[in-house]
Amino acid sequence: MQIKDIYTKLLDHFGFQKWWPVHKGTDRFLEVSIGAILTQNTNWKNVEKAIENLIRENVLSWDKLEKIDIEKLKKLIKPAGFYNQKAVYIKNFIKATKGQPKERITKDFILSIKGIGEETADSILLYGLDKPYFIVDAYTKRIFYRLGIIKTKNISYKKLQDIIQQNIPEDIDIYKEFHALLVELGKNYCRKKPLCKECPLNDICKKNLK
Ligand code: SF4
Repeated sequence: MQIKDIYTKLLDHFGFQKWWPVHKGTDRFLEVSIGAILTQNTNWKNVEKAIENLIRENVLSWDKLEKIDIEKLKKLIKPAGFYNQKAVYIKNFIKATKGQPKERITKDFILSIKGIGEETADSILLYGLDKPYFIVDAYTKRIFYRLGIIKTKNISYKKLQDIIQQNIPEDIDIYKEFHALLVELGKNYCRKKPLCKECPLNDICKKNLK
């Protein structure tokens, strides 16, 4: 089984996911970055509530997030959880990136900002700046392990990212869709307790728990 066949099967099953949705009139790089920070350790529904609060208060802009009082920011992003920490991360991010030319926003640059790890950095780079970094999250590790493509779930982020990137075309749209499709599979079928019978990959999965 080839990794690109997994992509094709998932696309046939779920269709295009068209990630990352941003609100009309907002700066894509900014909204994706804030969303990527807010989504650490929580689900997307909670992130949406926090983003909606920022939009309602008209503060989802570089200038306003730079100036906003941190206590007010904490209150607005509270639905996303870990809001004390995340407010600091957002402030750090804005301070480091505001006004920087996009060519200077490299992976090393983003990783140097306190509070930003590999997955958050790659989400920002791929969905915010259209740079070719495949995102590896917990779903990706679990699914690739169960499929038998990797032998251990303790594989490093970079190693799994390299395996995937070396086996699919270097195409931003495929990177974006494939990640979104793996999240759909993880949420709907390849859960902690997997639903293998209905899973669209059950004919090619090594760990198929029929
Ligand atoms: S067949 Fe089961 S273990 Fe394999 S990918 Fe699907 S849900 Fe996961």
